[in-house]
Amino acid sequence: MGRDFAVIGLGRFGGSICKELSREGMEVLAIDRDENKVNEFRDIAAHAVIADSTDEIVLKELGIRNIDHVIVAIGDNIQASMLTTLMLKELGIKKITVKAQNDYHEKILNKIGADHVIHPERDMGKRIAHNIISNNILDYIELSDDHSVVEVKAGSKMSGQTLTELDVRAHYGCNIVAIKRGKDVIVSPVATEAIKESDILIVIGADKDITRFEKNLVLED
Ligand code: ATP
Repeated sequence: MGRDFAVIGLGRFGGSICKELSREGMEVLAIDRDENKVNEFRDIAAHAVIADSTDEIVLKELGIRNIDHVIVAIGDNIQASMLTTLMLKELGIKKITVKAQNDYHEKILNKIGADHVIHPERDMGKRIAHNIISNNILDYIELSDDHSVVEVKAGSKMSGQTLTELDVRAHYGCNIVAIKRGKDVIVSPVATEAIKESDILIVIGADKDITRFEKNLVLED
């Protein structure tokens, strides 16, 4: 069986991806040009190698072509990140995920052909901002520029009402797709399910609809 994943760049972000994948039993090839970083991962990843990923010959020698999914987590060195992505693309890697430093970097990575560009600091900033705006919003995941999934505390306004009575879809255009109740998660709740004050609702929809839902049904007067 070929190796499952390669992680290039073992900073805080790449390092935590490498640790988590390895913990889940995946075979990870961990690459960094810094010897100290590589040493940290010798007992964690299946393979840990000191290499400069901008060197095409080195990449070929590492057998990177046999790896299904490569994660490029080179931080500040935008040029190295772009060059590495370009070479991985040319080598025919099936799936390339790259961490972007800024919007400009993201745009170029998309043009080069990265399959998935992630921007963890920006996304986490947005999630925290939503939580700061409203204490009721516990988590926020952006699906597109104008759609998201939010995790919101039900609160007293909805308490005791069933999903039919609330009819969130008709009134607000968004959907309650799951309810967290203590340790239980009710996925696709039935129409007769009554909301409890301490429930946490997972709501999906357009941002403007979620905001209306939150203003009318979640926030206390
Ligand atoms: P994070 O933002 O995830 O905390 P970081 O701030 O540690 O990351 P950097 O230190 O800029 O980010 O880069 C991450 C890692 O990428 C570093 O360990 C660095 O040695 C490695 N790296 C940078 N360029 C290359 C390269 N050309 N080849 C291999 N590894 C590289």
